[in-house]
Amino acid sequence: MFFRSKSRYTVYTYGADILKTRAREIGEITPEIREIAEEMLRAMQLFDGIGLAGPQYGVNLRIVTLGIPCSDHGAVSPGEAALLPRMPMTVINPEITAMGEAKDTEAEACLSVPGISAPVERSQFIQFRARTINGELIECECGGMLARCLQHEIDHLDGILFVDRLTEDVFSSIEPKLKRLKKNGRKKDFKKTILV
Ligand SMILES: [Zn+2]
Repeated sequence: MFFRSKSRYTVYTYGADILKTRAREIGEITPEIREIAEEMLRAMQLFDGIGLAGPQYGVNLRIVTLGIPCSDHGAVSPGEAALLPRMPMTVINPEITAMGEAKDTEAEACLSVPGISAPVERSQFIQFRARTINGELIECECGGMLARCLQHEIDHLDGILFVDRLTEDVFSSIEPKLKRLKKNGRKKDFKKTILV
């Protein structure tokens, strides 16, 4: 018989201090960083997310995993054309070097804010730079869901959640839910765990 020990994957939820902390730059991409990336990719898939940032996984580092589905429709930005076929992937020290003026508003959700979805205004296009887990430099213009997801994930690295970016009216409408989430989260140390 072959036994495998159980693994525990934890995501931090609304109210946890680490979600409000600015994550640190990564210097060298060490074997330890690669191991964290592997774990985060697995956690993202288990929790059924399309993106996971280090702080959500309890890691105070500028690392993000992405699992955005390929879209079939029409023209895509150079970034989507280059990166969507490589999903799921990890990006290290991701940054937005320029933001387009055109904005749009779409509903967002977040593994750290379970059960809540709300419209957020974001730039439609961003200029994006990061390293892959192999140290390869990526620089491209991204649009579509990729641009939105990157803005959401990079916000996490700066201690910002999508609920911090809502209009006053929208925030008021979900505030009772957020308060409940925080109250319930406190009982579990703001941890949502999956055992596999
Ligand atoms: Zn999120």
